[in-house]
Amino acid sequence: MAPGRLAAGLRARAPRWGFVLDHDGTLAPFRRDPSRAVPSVRARRAVARLLSAGHPVCIVSGRPLAFLRGAWPLAGLDLAGSHGAERAWEPPRGVSAAAACRRAARRLERAVRRALRRAPGGLFVESKPFGVAVHVRPLPPALRAGWLAAAERALRAGLPRGFRLLRGDCVVEARLRGADKGRVARRLRRGPARWRGLPLCAAGDDRTDEDLFAALGPRDVGVLVARRVRPSAARFRVAGVGELLTLLEAFGGGGKER
Ligand SMILES: [Mg+2]
Repeated sequence: MAPGRLAAGLRARAPRWGFVLDHDGTLAPFRRDPSRAVPSVRARRAVARLLSAGHPVCIVSGRPLAFLRGAWPLAGLDLAGSHGAERAWEPPRGVSAAAACRRAARRLERAVRRALRRAPGGLFVESKPFGVAVHVRPLPPALRAGWLAAAERALRAGLPRGFRLLRGDCVVEARLRGADKGRVARRLRRGPARWRGLPLCAAGDDRTDEDLFAALGPRDVGVLVARRVRPSAARFRVAGVGELLTLLEAFGGGGKER
């Protein structure tokens, strides 16, 4: 749907919304080097304007919380990293359990790096506080499926107890069981007072965002960010990062960045 029309429809339904937004491929375009996938000035401004217009915003991502803090240095913004295993608005769960999980993730990372040592340049093993992800997006398209399967085998072979595997479009990841983006939406509703009672507008581009869409209630809306139609629990779709920003700008009241 055209982002302007969608925004007008949502604004007519409620004056304030809570925005739960994925980072990669949703607010920031993909980059060959994921560490360079930082939000544009336009994206930061769109989010800042949502916040100043009274709409709470949470960036929820598979990225570590530390990365999100650097990418989104905005006061009043909620952040959930590692698919929600790290939440900026809550203290971490038991410190000793967290330390054991971090050690297990590092052991798995070493095993996966060994198993994939002959992979072509571009395959990227990402170290996360509570997990390991292998990205194949930088590889030539013909090589992606084979190396994604090899990465999945390597992760499965060393998967620690309490972790699970998750496949995205060009990524396979081991992460703590129980951490998913849907849980983040549910915790936001029960958590910070500024979120209570608000309908949620959730946006994401990947399979991992389907957990988020599936957790939405009848007053909420999911927005899939994808160039083409594909099966999704999201009710609406915009064609890319630029269109999503146009949608957000219509709520922030600041007009389009030039
Ligand atoms: Mg994404």
